[in-house]
Amino acid sequence: MSSPVWHPFTQHGLGEPIPLVTRAEGAALHTADGRRIIDAISSWWVTTHGHCHPRIMAAIAAQAAALDQIIFAGWTHEPAEAVARGLVEIMPPALEHVFFSDSGSTSVEVALKMALGYWLNRGEPRHRVLVLEHSYHGDTIGAMSIGARGVFNQAYAPLLFDVGTIPFPAGGAEQAALDALEAGCRAGAAAFIVEPLLLGAGGMLIYPPRVLAEMRRICAAHGVLFIADEVMTGWGRTGTLLACEQADVVPDILCLSKGLTGGAVPLAVTMATAPIYAAHLSTDRARMFFHSSSYTANPIACAAAAANLEIWRDEPVRERIAGLARHQQDRLAALASHPNVRNPRAIGTVTAMELSEGEGDYLSSRGPALLAFFRERDLLLRPLGNTVYVMPPYCIDDGDLDAIYTAIAAAADALPG
Ligand SMILES: *Cc1c(COP(=O)(O)O)cnc(C)c1O
Repeated sequence: MSSPVWHPFTQHGLGEPIPLVTRAEGAALHTADGRRIIDAISSWWVTTHGHCHPRIMAAIAAQAAALDQIIFAGWTHEPAEAVARGLVEIMPPALEHVFFSDSGSTSVEVALKMALGYWLNRGEPRHRVLVLEHSYHGDTIGAMSIGARGVFNQAYAPLLFDVGTIPFPAGGAEQAALDALEAGCRAGAAAFIVEPLLLGAGGMLIYPPRVLAEMRRICAAHGVLFIADEVMTGWGRTGTLLACEQADVVPDILCLSKGLTGGAVPLAVTMATAPIYAAHLSTDRARMFFHSSSYTANPIACAAAAANLEIWRDEPVRERIAGLARHQQDRLAALASHPNVRNPRAIGTVTAMELSEGEGDYLSSRGPALLAFFRERDLLLRPLGNTVYVMPPYCIDDGDLDAIYTAIAAAADALPG
């Protein structure tokens, strides 16, 4: 009998095999039919230290025995307090307030609502949001509105709100992008939201820290709130705890999820500076921040996040990331001269390249064939169109990295030259 499960981003009509995973450890997934799969994309960018990190698993088990779930409107618990204190300690000092939610998309919705609430409560309502071309911020209606439009959201287009799109600051076109941002800010935007340094789902596109710093400066000069979506880039992916660090940028609002719990269980936070919080602070109930979901700051998820913060504090995480970044970049360099490898690029622990001749297009390109090619080689790699990227957990060893790059080279060899 076929499964009643309807999978995300999956065309069931194509009948592709859906492996049954029973166990995970470090950088490996184990399937019911006895295969060991190398998780080369950190299970869609969430697993940072490695699967089933013992400290995170122990924290979840201990918390599950003590307090499972509690309303968070007007109540609190120690795991949430510990996470909030730990975040304020490790993140840029201006980000003094921590609002919990449960996914990256929700953290983005919360950021947008905070920004609009800020303007309304200041008595000068502003609604326009500026975004960067090729961005991805999640799959809820608001998050889709501020992300790239395409086949993914065509059916919902009539519901998506209008935004101002700033061209991607590709090499040579940086000034044009900055000028467009300046013009958008001058026209009176509420906020600019951006994935710092690395656009993930848009195709692993990288732009330099000096452009990010300049974007921040332009927003500040016009009083436009600067929202950093570090849902993917946060927790060391780009080589530093936050990508913003590399540009000395402190956002007004910061979105974090994915690696917040080390990738073990869902949790998200939206961090905000004092002025954002102050704009909602009043004795007037009409000015409170109107957002909640049932599982806001779930204690078990918070215990996992608290353990993640301890790991960042106690273990040589930054050294591991630097080592992985070096190894990743060496292997990418070895592939770079292959005639079917285009635009090889790297930032921190992430490498990416296009395989083949043409431009990437999610549906018409080689993505599905590549996916199958890697699956047959026991690799979890999920190309974005023709863009193959490697974003492994930080614990991956040399042997597994070799296997990944050997398979990518084989895929490049197999393409018509
Ligand atoms: C994954 C992602 C999101 C959405 O997070 P979900 O937890 O999948 O809702 C938002 N922004 C960025 C940059 C992401 O990579």
